[in-house]
Amino acid sequence: MGGHDLCERTMEPLTPETIAKRVQSILTKIRSAEEKAGRPAGTVRLVAATKTVTVEHIAEGVRAGLSILGENRVQEALPKIAMFTQAPVHWHFIGQLQRRKVRSVIGRFDLIHSVDTVDLAQEINRRAEEAGCRQNILLEVNVGREPTKAGFHPDDVVRSVPMMAQLSHVCIKGLMTIPPPSAGQDSARPYFRTLHGLARQIEALDLPSVRMDELSMGMSNDFDVAIEEGATLVRVGTAIFGARHV
Ligand SMILES: *Cc1c(COP(=O)(O)O)cnc(C)c1O
Repeated sequence: MGGHDLCERTMEPLTPETIAKRVQSILTKIRSAEEKAGRPAGTVRLVAATKTVTVEHIAEGVRAGLSILGENRVQEALPKIAMFTQAPVHWHFIGQLQRRKVRSVIGRFDLIHSVDTVDLAQEINRRAEEAGCRQNILLEVNVGREPTKAGFHPDDVVRSVPMMAQLSHVCIKGLMTIPPPSAGQDSARPYFRTLHGLARQIEALDLPSVRMDELSMGMSNDFDVAIEEGATLVRVGTAIFGARHV
């Protein structure tokens, strides 16, 4: 895992230079992982996971080239979004979303990565209809079948898609996963591969309003492996902003 390496890196003070250097380094690594996987440049986008990160640090990241910011908690995200209305950034919601918070996320996030039940998709549909918009979503899959983790069971997701495909104010763009915590970076590979396989299966259903364009997988420790396995969105926090203390 190179845990040593990561520790040293995250102990660096978080100056604008440090943030800029890390953003550039990750963008370069993404580019070379694309190349290595024989994928066209620009097919993978970086989502900076900004939970607990201050608006000042996020602003440094944006200056250094971040353009998609991923937040986990609605109450933390909304004030941050309000601070960046003039900036060329897109917000994604990547955390677990409670039903009662759905109304506040509609129209504020370009993409919700973490739709984990049919019920939640229906609530998003209802609120998007009220707001007069169509919400882009990904379906989160619990590929590791971990009892404590959110997400569709891998056996259920393919079955559930046709029902959600009927929701006229929701647009299903792909799948997302968070693999089980692992010791080595290659241990996540089978989970990434499984997610890719599920997306293929869903694609084969050929549902008119369902696209499997996006695969959101890979974090600080394994985004290069995820890119080899077909990721289009990688969610990276620690490798940019350092270890979280909260
Ligand atoms: C925090 C978070 C990430 C980023 O994880 P790092 O290991 O810090 O890169 C990615 N995805 C989700 C859903 C997260 O909550």
